[in-house]
Amino acid sequence: MSPSANGITVNDAPLRLGTSLHIYLETGEALDFWPMKIISCLELGGACSQAFRGSSFEEVASQSQQHGAEMAAMADQPHLDAMSEMMTILESGHVQEWMDAKMEFFALLPDDGQ
Ligand SMILES: [Zn+2]
Repeated sequence: MSPSANGITVNDAPLRLGTSLHIYLETGEALDFWPMKIISCLELGGACSQAFRGSSFEEVASQSQQHGAEMAAMADQPHLDAMSEMMTILESGHVQEWMDAKMEFFALLPDDGQ
């Protein structure tokens, strides 16, 4: 923890996935706040610029899955292609590396400030 000008201390450990940022007030009270981040369908291995907003990777991943299913139901070719590419990754046994890379990407995204 490092002191700041306002007498508020913020944990200065790198933000990890699924962890909140703890703010300690002068009163000793701790506030947890969850940064909101925006990631696009494309950035999650999809095919369009549809944005998903959430504070955890799980949150945006589930929105992306739902979106992917909707696009697939409409037989949207770019999304079907993206899904078949995803299947290739699954079958190749490299899904964990893929997930790790996406989760790291998400973890490094800036808070959207809202
Ligand atoms: Zn999409």
